Amino acid sequence: MSDLPLRFQSVEALRAQVATWRRAGERIVLVPTMGALHAGHLALVAHARAIGQRVVVSIFVNPTQFGPNEDFSRYPRDTEADLALLAGAGADAAWLPSVETMYPAGFSTRIEPGPAAEGLCGTFRPGHFSGVSTVVTKLLNQVGPDVALFGEKDFQQLQVIRSVVRDLDMPVTIEGVPTLREADGLALSSRNRYLAPTERAIAPRLHAVLSEIAERLATGAKAGPLVAEGMASLEAAGFGPVQYLEVRDADTLAPVAQVEREARVIAAAYLGGTRLIDNVAVLPG
Ligand code: AMP
Repeated sequence: MSDLPLRFQSVEALRAQVATWRRAGERIVLVPTMGALHAGHLALVAHARAIGQRVVVSIFVNPTQFGPNEDFSRYPRDTEADLALLAGAGADAAWLPSVETMYPAGFSTRIEPGPAAEGLCGTFRPGHFSGVSTVVTKLLNQVGPDVALFGEKDFQQLQVIRSVVRDLDMPVTIEGVPTLREADGLALSSRNRYLAPTERAIAPRLHAVLSEIAERLATGAKAGPLVAEGMASLEAAGFGPVQYLEVRDADTLAPVAQVEREARVIAAAYLGGTRLIDNVAVLPG
């Protein structure tokens, strides 16, 4: 086990450390997270180590990206376990701001992202992507990394962040990292720990259904009937409500009726009280 990462709770101390690394010519990579770390997060840290010399992982459960009836208060938090995992993964620093540090009295600015945030999760989680865009902008300004990594698991989030960084000329490269899955296909997620054993047994159907649709789309099939069939199949398996199941262009997130260039089959569905999201790439044959 490697040393625990350096812990930072003030922006000044964090910036001083990053400045020291930068003066030494080191490339700094940020991995933003909400903690409750799992192997999916650690895959991002491993990628960060592969492309840079210094890895900063932020852990902040951001209240402004949760809706009033969402799981902010019960979202799992275990900083000590997270730090031990980060030590094993070789992260150099953990940025652990408090809610007061991020949103002191008088805080009043919000980033309002454009069309990438419309539809999909944007429809079912009003304000979510504004909260994400605002907090990620703050994290990028606080850390000042060369590169920031985001999982393809949250594909719309990745595209929203890309658009914010592009539109605001932020001096950072955004990279997506493929989704890490359990052996049965379920995408790793901090929320998987909410699943009861019976639900856990059903959960991999989400990836299976998306993959079946992706395969048929790749051979030229039309999206409409496949999506309808897929929704019915998820409901028959025990999901509900299925909030959306759609085929979107991988670049623009525009709706796609028949795949001609890279697309994503993307879905959000409740399984009991747990909201699961996933997406699968479609590469036209
Ligand atoms: P979260 O803590 O859920 O906000 O996730 C932090 C980062 O890890 C985000 O960029 C996620 O997309 C990414 N992530 C979460 N789960 C996975 C996974 N199974 N595979 C790859 N990246 C993931």
